Amino acid sequence: MSSRRSMRLYKRALKKIPGGVNSPVRAWKAVGGFPRFVERGAAAHIFDVDGRKYIDFVGSWGPLIFGHACPEVVAAVKKGIMAGTTFGASTELEVRLAELVCRLMPSITQLRLVSSGTEAAMSAIRLARAFTQRQKVIKFDGCYHGHADGLLVKAGSGIATLGLPDSPGVPPGFARETLIARFNNLDSVDRLFTRHGGNVAAVIVEPVCGNMGVIAPKKGFLSGLQKITRRYDALLIFDEVITGFRVGLGGAQVVYGIAPDLTCLGKILGGGLPLAAFGGRRDIMDLLAPNGPVYQAGTLSGNPLAVIAGLTTLKLLSRRDRYHLLEQMGKTLEEGFRNVLNKYGMKGTINRVGSMLTLFFGVDRVASAAEARQCNREQFARFFHGMLARGIYLPPAPFEAMFVSLAHKKADLQETISAFDDWAAEETQG
Ligand SMILES: *Cc1c(COP(=O)(O)O)cnc(C)c1O
Repeated sequence: MSSRRSMRLYKRALKKIPGGVNSPVRAWKAVGGFPRFVERGAAAHIFDVDGRKYIDFVGSWGPLIFGHACPEVVAAVKKGIMAGTTFGASTELEVRLAELVCRLMPSITQLRLVSSGTEAAMSAIRLARAFTQRQKVIKFDGCYHGHADGLLVKAGSGIATLGLPDSPGVPPGFARETLIARFNNLDSVDRLFTRHGGNVAAVIVEPVCGNMGVIAPKKGFLSGLQKITRRYDALLIFDEVITGFRVGLGGAQVVYGIAPDLTCLGKILGGGLPLAAFGGRRDIMDLLAPNGPVYQAGTLSGNPLAVIAGLTTLKLLSRRDRYHLLEQMGKTLEEGFRNVLNKYGMKGTINRVGSMLTLFFGVDRVASAAEARQCNREQFARFFHGMLARGIYLPPAPFEAMFVSLAHKKADLQETISAFDDWAAEETQG
């Protein structure tokens, strides 16, 4: 079977869409070749326009915890769309979603809905600056918080694989307000506070990193961030756009027992439609217009269809414990991959937190962006294409997370491990 239709569509796309894509990592620059165009998805599978079927571990980069076209979500959205797609006025569903999120994440007493994670992080930082009346923000090398100007500094996968340490078009003055620390390294945070403490508005962090590949926080790292931000009267912002409802119903903050001052949500929150949010302490959220002076708004914010998809997803997730199953499936995949690495004597390490997982080739451990960058990218590209040829669709870049969904079956995981075994046999024969 050829991939002629994808190839033809890509060529047409290249003429009218920059790089042929509406988000850079979709162009497969990190792995080479040309991207496959997707026709549809069903549960754990996607189908490309050439009729190929793949087991999907991208899951639209995180949102699809129930897999593609989840019947309950589809039914709810179908019903919702008949009542109109947007009003630019308040709906009951927004209130219900806000109430549910506040119940699941006790650190959030109020939240505002937006349309993308980028907007959520950008708005949370504006709010943190206004609240503290300070300018600087500390972020971590390799963490991604969307593409707002001041946050595009050392920002992880999409940029790491494109080789752009920064982005042109970001005024140097903006980037200067962002200080870079090292993930899992409290000393690096301490040093920044010692120098700039009186002017640091907030520390923003992915509590479990997903954008330099999966990296778990070391014991004491997150609590250390909380201590130091409190000591300097700065705010702690958890960017849980990936981890919210992924590593647990209450996000990483409940799993690790740290209540941040502000939280960013997205991805799963929208159940596969464009929805995100930021929220947290009431005294901070009170500064937002119309209560306070900090402006933030959106024509499609809290879009009824996105809210229905998100609310349905969260209700399904909270009906019974699904995280035990996600943990088991993640573990199955991790152990299967590790056995294959050992069997063929391939050097590599697997980082996993629940249902998010990254396989780094050529390194023994990865606990920071610097260590992630040591991995063997060429081997990853061969791995990606080897798996693709065997019907497994992985993130097309080495510094990304694979996501297991509740739609994956045991047989899907076994097929994935077998495909890896088959590829590894070929790879190690040279
Ligand atoms: C995806 C992501 C974002 C950006 O969300 P968009 O909806 O793509 O703008 C922000 N932070 C983290 C941690 C993310 O993974």
